Amino acid sequence: MAGLETFSFSRVTTFEQCARRYRYRYVDGVREAFQSIEAFMGQQVHAAVEWMFQEKDAGRAPRVDDAVRQYSATFDRAWGEARGGLKVIKQGTAVEDYRRSGAEMLADFHRTRFAADRLETIGLERHFMLEIDEGRRFQGFIDRLARDASGVVHIIDYKTGGRPPTRFGGKDGDQLEAYAVAMFAETGADELVLMLEYLRNGSTQTRRIRRGEAEETARRLGARIRMAAEANVFPPSPGTLCDWCGFNDLCEAYGRRSR
Ligand code: SF4
Repeated sequence: MAGLETFSFSRVTTFEQCARRYRYRYVDGVREAFQSIEAFMGQQVHAAVEWMFQEKDAGRAPRVDDAVRQYSATFDRAWGEARGGLKVIKQGTAVEDYRRSGAEMLADFHRTRFAADRLETIGLERHFMLEIDEGRRFQGFIDRLARDASGVVHIIDYKTGGRPPTRFGGKDGDQLEAYAVAMFAETGADELVLMLEYLRNGSTQTRRIRRGEAEETARRLGARIRMAAEANVFPPSPGTLCDWCGFNDLCEAYGRRSR
């Protein structure tokens, strides 16, 4: 598959949210001037969750305080390495607020779900690559792949931001349905469980998906990738997310509020 243009789910959704931001990042290859503290904190929580399951797989049983200690150490190290490349955007908040909020999410996750989790982990940050459309491929990293007692594989994604939804769906649901397309292509499974774990409020949204449903999902995903790949105009879509956009120093539309 060498030489094929590669799309991730976030590349597709970036195009749909703001084509100009897509152009800066994926067409022009510009680096964002900063990373938001929310995205940074989410990365550190993900790293800690991955560490917890690695420890469990190795036969150890990390306690809540082990998990929080691991998280805090990685947060501080990464914060030091970022050397001012991070930005706190919401007024009246500070880095320490986000550091604490991540630690609270992690501790809550440990108490309410990790300790009782009986799934067998079969992959963490599991990479996939799939040829999805003529000359194009789709890739992603699945936070956790796990098997239940009946042998059904679960595709699990941990979410730290946004407002948790009341049912499976939306952009997060679309993302896992797209990942299911890749897992059906790679394995002989007839059925998968998609699981969204919202660490902010401790809710879990799940959906079972059968192989027959993946065809329609693949078709829709292929169409979305085609839209982005074949675009030749990239208008800005200014709105509230502009403050979190690391290209807002370049963009002439920053400051307009029309989205
Ligand atoms: S500042 Fe706003 S309109 Fe401009 S590229 Fe970023 S998200 Fe798009």
